[in-house]
Amino acid sequence: MARADTAADVIVAGGGAAGLACALAAARAGAQVAVLEGDVACARKVLATGNGRCNLTNESLDPGRYRYPAFAAAVLGNAPEERIARFWEGVGLVTTSTGGWVYPRSKRAESVRDALMGACERAGVRLRCAHEVRGARRDAASRRWLVDAWAPERPVRRRAGETERRYRRRVEEARHARVGFSAAAVVAATGGGAGVWAAWTGLPLAPESPVLCPVACRCADGALDRLDGLRADAALTLRRAGEPVAREVGEVLFRRYGVSGICAFNLSRRCEPGDALEVDLLPELAGEDAARAMLARRAELLGEPRDARWFDGLLARPLGEAVWERAGAAGGDRELVGRLARTLTCFSFEVTGLAETASAQVTRGGLALEAFDPATLEARDLPGFFAVGEALDMDADCGGFNLAWAWLTGMRAGAAAAAAARNG
Ligand SMILES: Cc1cc2nc3c(=O)[nH]c(=O)nc-3n(C[C@H](O)[C@H](O)[C@H](O)COP(=O)(O)OP(=O)(O)OC[C@H]3O[C@@H](n4cnc5c(N)ncnc54)[C@H](O)[C@@H]3O)c2cc1C
Repeated sequence: MARADTAADVIVAGGGAAGLACALAAARAGAQVAVLEGDVACARKVLATGNGRCNLTNESLDPGRYRYPAFAAAVLGNAPEERIARFWEGVGLVTTSTGGWVYPRSKRAESVRDALMGACERAGVRLRCAHEVRGARRDAASRRWLVDAWAPERPVRRRAGETERRYRRRVEEARHARVGFSAAAVVAATGGGAGVWAAWTGLPLAPESPVLCPVACRCADGALDRLDGLRADAALTLRRAGEPVAREVGEVLFRRYGVSGICAFNLSRRCEPGDALEVDLLPELAGEDAARAMLARRAELLGEPRDARWFDGLLARPLGEAVWERAGAAGGDRELVGRLARTLTCFSFEVTGLAETASAQVTRGGLALEAFDPATLEARDLPGFFAVGEALDMDADCGGFNLAWAWLTGMRAGAAAAAAARNG
């Protein structure tokens, strides 16, 4: 087993969700592990997940929720939910679930990070923050991986009470130098932006782009301007050339630029410019006929609709106005109830692309899956090279599926990397 501070059995590049899970699994399998994290602290993204509550997995990890279900199924294996539950039990994290979405019992994302980092420290993982990996290659003679990091020449300690921002600035201002590490196995766990690994290793890369973000839309009648900031329960159907492509039900947030909310995020993984996005504003009813019957009953109770205020009590006023205008409604129209029912159940926009991509939750693309063995996450033609989490070309719906991928790929690769190091 390796001894010097810059030598290890396994080097994990990136101390995010997948990297820490991997490091822990490798250390528990007996390897000496160093994590090289470019930022001043590990797992910072975890803190932002689930609106600060961290939806860390799902009680039903259906491979169909992943972009490549067959590869996902091979990685998930049997009862992945139980393996993840055991993993978290083993680090002392108590979880709870809401509608199958699993959270830490504390409903605080830092509980997840702290439990994981505590377990890593107890297992003897060396966490090297402010160590940005800038290169990696396999030395054919020694059959070891040589990893270059860029780090402060002298360690910069965080002062008591110092903000992370101020500390980061001091680290950035410190004199940096190249530090060379070596290991029997290296794990790419740097999240999105995996193009550097493709350049360093020659492995194929699937083009990267953001997903899980709002869907940008347009409409001719200015409805989105009117609805900006409004939330409503709705069903969203995505249509391409008239055919339904995907459907999501949940809370929708209308924005000037399009549609946001978890169901829109999920559609951002499937939509293309030119698709139609149909919003059913009465998702609790079984479609247009049921909506027409409900509106006819409402007309009996309130009188025939004469203006948008007829929707008061059913829809938020701006939504009622948008529906009224879109339906081309005018008082005394005999077909009006039917047109209103159609508009309410199929309020349509044209998809123009994605919006707010800078804060997208996940990067699509990454190191191409065909180059990796799903049983170990080791590159088939590059011994000792592993990739995990978002660095791989896999993305999934909201609901804990992406973090589940991070934990499961991390656990698999960690155990396999330790075995690879053991076997020379
Ligand atoms: C706002 C937001 C909310 C989300 N909410 C959820 C949720 O509730 N549930 C869910 O399942 N998923 C959620 N996700 C997605 C989830 O966070 C990711 O799928 C997951 O973090 C991916 O883990 P990772 O370890 O592969 O990558 P990351 O978490 O991105 O970790 C990569 C790490 O590598 C480091 N790094 C990068 N380059 C280098 C380098 N050259 N050298 C050294 N270190 C480097 C980074 O600093 C980072 O610490 C959310 C994402 C966002 C942005």
